[in-house]
Amino acid sequence: MKAFESNGQHLLILKRGERIMDSILKACEEHQLEGGRINGIGALCRPELGFYDLKNKSYIRKEFAGDDYELLSLVGNISLKEGKPFAHIHVVLGDREFQTFGGHLFGAEVAVTAEVSIIPFGSMPIREFHDSIGLDLICRLN
Ligand code: ZN
Repeated sequence: MKAFESNGQHLLILKRGERIMDSILKACEEHQLEGGRINGIGALCRPELGFYDLKNKSYIRKEFAGDDYELLSLVGNISLKEGKPFAHIHVVLGDREFQTFGGHLFGAEVAVTAEVSIIPFGSMPIREFHDSIGLDLICRLN
C-alpha cells in the first residue's frame, strides 16, 4: 500500500493481494485519522458481502468466488466501535457480463488495484449498540 496526503486528504493505492479492509484500518491508525469519509474504485477478488436482515437482526453473508470484479463504487466512513476504529463500507461490483451487485463489505482482496480516498471529519463518530436494530449505530461525535 502506498499512501499519499495532500490538503489533509489521503489517497491509498493498494496492490494486488492486499486485504482492503485491513489496509484501510491500518492507514487510519498510522495517520491517526479522526473519522472520515471513504470512497474508492479498482478491482476486487473473493469479496464477502452482507445484506442486513432486520427481522433476524443478522447479516446474510455471501462470499463470491470470482477473482476479478470491477470495484465500481466503494463508499463508507470511519468511526469508533467498542473503542476501536471501524470502517463501515458498502460496495457495488461488476462482473464480465456487466452485471452489477453489491452490499455491505466484510472483506475482499485487491485484484488489480484499489484507489481509495479518505477525507477526515476531524472528530470521531462514536457507535453504540441499538437493541431495536441489532447493530452499532453512530450516535454522536467524540
Ligand atoms: Zn453496512
